[in-house]
Amino acid sequence: MTAAMRQILPASPRDGLASRYTNKTVVAIGAHPDDLEIGIGGTLARLRRNGARVVMVVASIPKDYEVRREEAKRGAQILDCELKFLLDDGPKRLEDVKTCELVGMLDDVIRDYEPAAVLTHSAADFHNDHLLIYNACLPTQRLRYFDLFSYHPTNCRPVPIAFHPKAYVDVSSTIDAKMHSITAHSSQFGERGLDTTMYREFAHVQGRMIGVDYAEGLDVVRMLLA
Ligand SMILES: [Zn+2]
Repeated sequence: MTAAMRQILPASPRDGLASRYTNKTVVAIGAHPDDLEIGIGGTLARLRRNGARVVMVVASIPKDYEVRREEAKRGAQILDCELKFLLDDGPKRLEDVKTCELVGMLDDVIRDYEPAAVLTHSAADFHNDHLLIYNACLPTQRLRYFDLFSYHPTNCRPVPIAFHPKAYVDVSSTIDAKMHSITAHSSQFGERGLDTTMYREFAHVQGRMIGVDYAEGLDVVRMLLA
């Protein structure tokens, strides 16, 4: 992209928080394999490259357990992040887990990793499993301070959603890793005849909001500015 094509002056690295989580731990939580890659794959790779320890928590695998488990491992590997399965004893739907148990498991994640930041689903999401995770993440804030962000609702087929980012991450340097990590979930895309180009296009549109090639937008639930 040439400067003339940019609609606004681009954000400078000094404007961002690239080093905010260097040498700290960031925990990203998704209901299913592929949610984190779709929602914030570029952000996670960027945080990792900036020296954060990044843990991808996949809460559940509803079916095709072994296939999707391997795809999740591959996705995390591409983004160079650690991977933890929350319900790791076979296929299970989050709706079948009591809310108090889910909160207890996420409490353990917060105690174990002591994250500086947590990224999870949004209240604007329409998938009930995603909402269950978002709602179970909220009470974990009582245990310790961490920045808490929500990412754009994730889906394989686009539907109209009212999600308005309050913060952006420039993922121009990691968009290819994001796209690669999404295609690792071939059972959800290639094998179902679904293509993934809309995620690149969407990141490009969000990038235009801050004057860079590609970005991912986040909602801010809680953040310490200084
Ligand atoms: Zn999902």
